[in-house]
Amino acid sequence: MSSNSKLLNFIEGEWRKSSAATYLEVVNPATNDVLGQVPLSPAAEVDEATKAAVKAFDGWRRTPATARIQYLFKLKNLMEDNFEELARTITMECGKTLGESRGEIRRAIENVEVACGIPLMMQGDISEDIAAGIDELMIRQPVGVCAVIAPFNFPGMIAFWFMPYALACGNTYIVKPSEKVPLTMQKVFELLEQADFPKGVVNMVNGSKEAVTAILDHPDIQAISFVGSTAVAKYVYSRGSANGKRVQAQGGAKNPIIVLPDADMEMTKKIAADSAFGCAGQRCLAASIALTVGEAHRPFTEAISEAAVSRVVGYGMDESVQMGPVINQQSMHRIEGLVQEGIDEGAKVVVDGRFPTISGYEQGSFIRPTVLENVDPRGTTAKTEIFGPVLGLIHVKSIDEAIKFLNSGQYGNMACLFTSSGAAARKFRYEAEVGNIGINVGVAAPMAFFPFSGWKESFFGTLHGQGQHAVEFFTQTKVIVERWPKEWSRQF
Ligand code: NAD
Repeated sequence: MSSNSKLLNFIEGEWRKSSAATYLEVVNPATNDVLGQVPLSPAAEVDEATKAAVKAFDGWRRTPATARIQYLFKLKNLMEDNFEELARTITMECGKTLGESRGEIRRAIENVEVACGIPLMMQGDISEDIAAGIDELMIRQPVGVCAVIAPFNFPGMIAFWFMPYALACGNTYIVKPSEKVPLTMQKVFELLEQADFPKGVVNMVNGSKEAVTAILDHPDIQAISFVGSTAVAKYVYSRGSANGKRVQAQGGAKNPIIVLPDADMEMTKKIAADSAFGCAGQRCLAASIALTVGEAHRPFTEAISEAAVSRVVGYGMDESVQMGPVINQQSMHRIEGLVQEGIDEGAKVVVDGRFPTISGYEQGSFIRPTVLENVDPRGTTAKTEIFGPVLGLIHVKSIDEAIKFLNSGQYGNMACLFTSSGAAARKFRYEAEVGNIGINVGVAAPMAFFPFSGWKESFFGTLHGQGQHAVEFFTQTKVIVERWPKEWSRQF
């Protein structure tokens, strides 16, 4: 692909050129090289994709589940065969290290594998003789055309929290990738094409706000999954639900970790550094604030600062690199500004990663790991999602004080505790008001067979992505009460 290449949409089994008036450049954040041009597709192209998905729906839902999953088995094998290419594409357009990109594609594949269990997962229930000779059944049926709107930070994985389940359940589908990182989904759709899904069963429309709003307003789209920032999640949830659709909308995060004095400091340092600085802090499950309790303060501050300074930063394509750039220059400047705000609010810079020179990548969007101490618990560093490799430290006297702080936050995506005390761990698990908990784990990412939980302003909706929650989201229940007169009369 050259810098002038215009990306295509995939509608009704074919690659179609968009009629978009505007194309955006897709940029490699490490080199600032232009990788291609992504169309901001107009609403009419969402309509084309939806019409194709509506047309394909009846045939697909009537295809037995055991036959539908054969396409997913094919897709899984194709993803395994193209694993390295998918990972390299993620690193190229998103900046994360190859190891992180491989982890992302692995989780995407795991979701395909779990969705292959759909013949069992979407089974219904039956109760005989709810009254003499009368039976009652509950069956699960697909909801129709569904769509996902994805963020930039996991170009390969996030669509897979939803799409394999939606398709396995008999729905037809539209993917709207992030316009910042559309190349990985182009590759995924090449594989979906090779897996030979019937035309119109799975479609892709590139774009941004206009395409999203067209999805939210389209009368023939029944269910929408969104992942992105809280402001857009709220918009998607309110507009989509007002239009009568099922919506699940995952938003932003501000994840605290708590370090107790009895934690294994060496292990905690490594895990906390991976959480705060892995993926350059651009994970919705990244640690962003560390609350050190009592005597944990000094040893943790020293250990995490050492980890921050020694982290190898560069182009993720180099296997020795431990952290890549942030997504673009705009984001880099935003993060630099937020660090400055924290300092202006009284935080002390322990490690300042701003304005680094990364040899050979001077044009890249780099910030090295940054650690701020004595962060104001009510200030910007403590409350705002920074989405960069910045860890703020707050010192507290007790675990109760730490839990009180985390429960006062606007978000509820993840919180972690580092300790060797089972009692402290249980108290934390019980009292923390977040959807994903880590105990001596820094990125508590649910496996594909668990729901990706999120609370408060990190999630709007009821049913989450992945596993059985996804099956419930992508099916509607139908309850049948039936009596067969002949049998009834024979019996009585
Ligand atoms: P974003 O909200 O800017 O974009 C997400 C999607 O919404 C994109 O497809 C984009 O095209 C679309 N969009 C953007 N602005 C829009 C608007 N005004 N109207 C309609 N659509 C719009 O998010 P991002 O910057 O791509 O991703 C980072 C955010 O995603 C962070 O806040 C992060 O915490 C969050 N995130 C959350 C989770 C989770 O599981 N909760 C997972 C990954 C990322």
